[in-house]
Amino acid sequence: MTQPLAVDFDRAPFLVIWEVTRACALACVHCRADAIARRDPRELTTPEAFALIDQLQAFAPARPLFVLTGGDPMRRPDLAAIVRYAHDAGLTVALTPSGTAAATHARLAELKAAGLSRIAVSLDGPDPETHDAFRRVRGSYANTMKIIDSALALDLPLQINTTVSRMTLPHLDAMAARVAEWPLALWAAFFLVKTGRGAALDQVSPEECEGVLHRLYDLSQSVPFGIKTTEAPQFQRVIWQRDQAGGGTGRGGAATGRRPLRAPRSVGDGKGFVFIDHVGEICPSGFLPVRCGNVRTDSLATVYRTHGVFTRLRDPDALGGKCGRCRFREICGGSRSRAYAATGAITASDPLCVYQPGPTVEPLVEPEALSTSSR
Ligand code: SF4
Repeated sequence: MTQPLAVDFDRAPFLVIWEVTRACALACVHCRADAIARRDPRELTTPEAFALIDQLQAFAPARPLFVLTGGDPMRRPDLAAIVRYAHDAGLTVALTPSGTAAATHARLAELKAAGLSRIAVSLDGPDPETHDAFRRVRGSYANTMKIIDSALALDLPLQINTTVSRMTLPHLDAMAARVAEWPLALWAAFFLVKTGRGAALDQVSPEECEGVLHRLYDLSQSVPFGIKTTEAPQFQRVIWQRDQAGGGTGRGGAATGRRPLRAPRSVGDGKGFVFIDHVGEICPSGFLPVRCGNVRTDSLATVYRTHGVFTRLRDPDALGGKCGRCRFREICGGSRSRAYAATGAITASDPLCVYQPGPTVEPLVEPEALSTSSR
């Protein structure tokens, strides 16, 4: 498996996520994409999908991880052809199927044979009642368990994604115990951004967020899999602070020697990360729907490297408010998606952080001490 290492995020992303379709049979309460029942006729076609994969060669020598998401990517009948084309192009390909009956064992086996390297499934509750209430479809939990069983039977490295919101917060400790039952590669905690259908949900408070991050740090010291956060880069601050306080490795997953597919340093919206939606629009993140070009007409590499939105997102000195004064602005920088959702400004402070910098700009901490990724 190709394993990208030292990536210059000004030149290339670590992760390229493509929303292959917005169609999905679920109606999850937090859905970023506000997924729809039928496939949009404007979706990228199969030849356009191949052209997008060809475009990723422009990031060479870096080889971004290529994640196929949705909606439910299983709704595309050409999915195996896309996986094979990307695999043959030298990319590491991951898939995030929805918890529906469309992800059969036979189809997952076909995708594995085509070159799929990882599968990531969403699990937002430790039991059918809590998970299905969040996904708003009875049976989603059972389908998710079947996908997990298939992934393990096929020896596909498994990632579990769990949303952190006020609705899921009471179940997080039980979730931590549940995910530890599987031989995971990675547990990813997705901190809610109030966009799409998620705009109607409640986030955790900054204090609750801090408590979750410390619990994740504690867990990372004992479990045999990696732990990362999405849209809570404050985790990098917590890792730094806890490691400085002594005792921790900041690594997680160290006990098995199993190497998680994770970024060599903090990945953020537009900083090591780029999102392409189902009609080809290029955005810094799926949670940050600022369109900066379209892969049908624009060079993905040029947009990523030079578009003003992307270059500002990678510039810690462009940050405003307390994030702009914070000594963790390089290794954290706050969730740009949450700042945008809350204020309409991509450089505003992340409201989900308890850290209070002083009144003047603080000197930066050294990023070398960190190894766990987040975005
Ligand atoms: S103030 Fe901003 S940059 Fe500093 S740790 Fe909090 S979110 Fe990160």
